[in-house]
Amino acid sequence: MNIYIDAEICTGCQLCVKACPYSAIEMADGLATITEACTLCGGCVSVCPVDAIIWEAPAVEEVDTSDYQGVWVIGEVGEDGLAGVTWELLGKGRELAEDLDTELSLVVLGDKAGELAQKAVQSGPDRVFAVEDAALARYRTGTYTDVISGLINKHKPEIVLFGATEQGRDLAPRIATRIETGLTADCTGLEIDPEERLLVQTRPAFGGNIIARIITRNHRPQMATVRPRVMQRLQSQPEHAAEIIEVPVSFDEDSIMTRIIDIARDEAAGQVNLQDAEIIVSGGRGMKKPENFAIIRELADALGAVVGASRPTVDDGWIAPYHQVGQTGSTVQPRLYIACGISGAVQHLAGMSGADCIVAINTDPAAPIFEVAHYGIVGDLFEVVPALTEIVREELGSR
Ligand SMILES: Cc1cc2nc3c(=O)[nH]c(=O)nc-3n(C[C@H](O)[C@H](O)[C@H](O)COP(=O)(O)OP(=O)(O)OC[C@H]3O[C@@H](n4cnc5c(N)ncnc54)[C@H](O)[C@@H]3O)c2cc1C
Repeated sequence: MNIYIDAEICTGCQLCVKACPYSAIEMADGLATITEACTLCGGCVSVCPVDAIIWEAPAVEEVDTSDYQGVWVIGEVGEDGLAGVTWELLGKGRELAEDLDTELSLVVLGDKAGELAQKAVQSGPDRVFAVEDAALARYRTGTYTDVISGLINKHKPEIVLFGATEQGRDLAPRIATRIETGLTADCTGLEIDPEERLLVQTRPAFGGNIIARIITRNHRPQMATVRPRVMQRLQSQPEHAAEIIEVPVSFDEDSIMTRIIDIARDEAAGQVNLQDAEIIVSGGRGMKKPENFAIIRELADALGAVVGASRPTVDDGWIAPYHQVGQTGSTVQPRLYIACGISGAVQHLAGMSGADCIVAINTDPAAPIFEVAHYGIVGDLFEVVPALTEIVREELGSR
């Protein structure tokens, strides 16, 4: 890959100088010049108003895969530090790194990245890249894409993993496009092919009717987003030591296309934490109409559970989208999952079949949900659910 500025076209406007997070563009004789500090992140290309920055990508066959080494996890930062999905990715990343006999690295961006990196050491990586700047305090597509693309181009990891979260689903495709490599979205399994040393990325495809195993043979890094709650998270390792690499960056706010003015939280959404729920009571199309979800809520309240839903009930506006369980909703792993009036389509099962105990209530004895259920009740949910609620109230009330 090569990047240069066409001196015949450059007007010396300096927009690229301001846009470069690695301070790799300088002015000389009134024209912009790219210095050796360039990481080939490409952040300058789109800001040039006269297309004077020429970015040449190599042909596919020129990618030398042996130049690339190491497994990287792109960390996601929540309000309480590293998000759970990052711990899960580090757990899987450690396995992959051991299979490849290579190092595991974590990348953390933020306004307190140094502090987070110190804490992240106990999550088990060999190296932590800490990129700290006030401009990175909150996730913004452009700044994060520039910084991570630059780091990847410079250090050449062979595998890069992101959470299949809102942030990861936004960021990973941008980076894949920028650095011209493949990306497999929404993986549910990752393993190394021992003969070819390739990352085999497993994900449901065609509406969950087939399981696809995907490889990235000609490009590097091999990149994947991974669904939260499907990989085993690493246990905290207080004695673990890792190298922390502080990456200097600088930003000019005026050259960043997006600015966060305010964050409006949906308080109700915040109260529905399906992914961490111990007990979930879910309703499907068998509920017949939105008002009937009241009996699901009553049972959930009695059990101290969270309310889940199948996709048609969300699509029809019976219940808010953050209740949806399944392939295009949340993946859940509760101790108890009660499915009421849900047929058990493969896309629903993709999100809940990992529950420790599944109870299904359905009038149709042939409903596929009974194939995964540990306890099945063939009956009308409008009789069974209120009866269950009453029993739970009596039992729990008497304790
Ligand atoms: C790309 C793609 C992604 C998808 N992602 C998801 C997803 O994330 N989550 C998801 O859920 N779906 C998803 N779907 C939709 C999925 O294919 C099914 O259509 C859906 O799961 C069916 O929802 P359901 O079980 O509520 O409805 P139905 O299949 O209509 O089942 C309703 C059930 O209720 C039972 N019933 C009716 N009346 C009663 C009663 N009185 N008492 C007891 N039982 C009763 C019926 O016997 C039936 O089994 C996706 C589909 C596609 C193509």
